[in-house]
Amino acid sequence: MYSLPKLPYAYGALAPHISEEQLKLHYEKHHQAYVDGANAMVQKLEDARKASADVDMKSMLKALSFNVAGHVLHSLFWENLTPDGGGEPKGKLGESIAKDFGSFARFRSEFTQAALSVEGSGWAALSCCQTLGRLVIQQVEKHNVNVVPSMPVLMVLDVFEHAYYIDYRNARARFIDAFWNVVNWDAVEKRFAASVNS
Ligand code: FE
Repeated sequence: MYSLPKLPYAYGALAPHISEEQLKLHYEKHHQAYVDGANAMVQKLEDARKASADVDMKSMLKALSFNVAGHVLHSLFWENLTPDGGGEPKGKLGESIAKDFGSFARFRSEFTQAALSVEGSGWAALSCCQTLGRLVIQQVEKHNVNVVPSMPVLMVLDVFEHAYYIDYRNARARFIDAFWNVVNWDAVEKRFAASVNS
């Protein structure tokens, strides 16, 4: 069974960047819905197998990947936020960002543009291309479109409206600005080290 991970901080801990009301709703309602949806799809497939019933594989797998990826991305999002975050990454991650994007300022600007311009609902992601041995930015539409399956995702920013509407209404850019104050660079660095060594 998929299940909601425990949040590593209190609901109000990321305020004023993300309010208690916004975070609670996002986590308890939206993330929970993806967990429930993913489990329901797994069960549906299992039931159909047992009954030897026909399945609309295309729509079933679409719903499954939408919900599982929604769960995975939200779990990663909570992990890459912290009340003690922000600033610039140090260590190997900081060096790689400077090398692959030219500077942290350039990376921040490209990631911000990726987050701002996702069509409809989706995510901006910092990922690692292991083939090239370099960091890349990805834009994920919905939870599952545009994903290159082989690239480990290091950091994500949720730009579905449900992530910011209570706090920022339609001002996605203000939410993205606030995000930079609560990035948990230590957590991103850990994922980076694991992806480089794998
Ligand atoms: Fe979300």
